[in-house]
Amino acid sequence: MHATLIVDAYTTKCSRCGKGTSLTATHHDRVLSGWTTPDPDARGCGAAFVAISTQDLSVTEADLAELRPDLPAYRAGKLPGELRR
Ligand SMILES: [Zn+2]
Repeated sequence: MHATLIVDAYTTKCSRCGKGTSLTATHHDRVLSGWTTPDPDARGCGAAFVAISTQDLSVTEADLAELRPDLPAYRAGKLPGELRR
């Protein structure tokens, strides 16, 4: 099960379940929602993050690659079809 990290100015979320995650997460094992205190019992969907993208048109691939050099980066709207879920 794969997912993409979707990064915007203040939050990072999982493309598969739409819930918050950590920018440094390799798998969606915990739910983090923006500035609120994380619920210790909240579990992510478990997907492995295989790419990083954004919905913010001002964010470039270089910006994303800087955040996660280990993942392929895609600008807003450029995510390959198989990762767009
Ligand atoms: Zn998830």
